[in-house]
Amino acid sequence: MKPKTPKTKVTQDAQDLLEHAKHAWPHDPEKAVRLVKKARRLAMKHRVHLDAKSFCRKCHVPFASDTLLVRQNRRTQTVLYACRKCNTTRRIPYKRKPIHA
Ligand SMILES: [Zn+2]
Repeated sequence: MKPKTPKTKVTQDAQDLLEHAKHAWPHDPEKAVRLVKKARRLAMKHRVHLDAKSFCRKCHVPFASDTLLVRQNRRTQTVLYACRKCNTTRRIPYKRKPIHA
């Protein structure tokens, strides 16, 4: 059996791919999507966590200022991340820190 790649290395590799995708997005969207898919496949294979806020889970577009819409909902204490390409939305809850007297 092939020895396992350390998870820290896999995470780093996947993050590098996402970083490349982000840079490739403005001039080569197809390449960017390919890189995001590759990063995701790698992360799933090694079961490591990827930052959900760096790309769209549906159309694999890397999130940048022209592809991402962020809204905060104070009532439900969530942040809404919407993809501007396919209109997929994700709600990520946050917790307000208690104020210490
Ligand atoms: Zn999308």
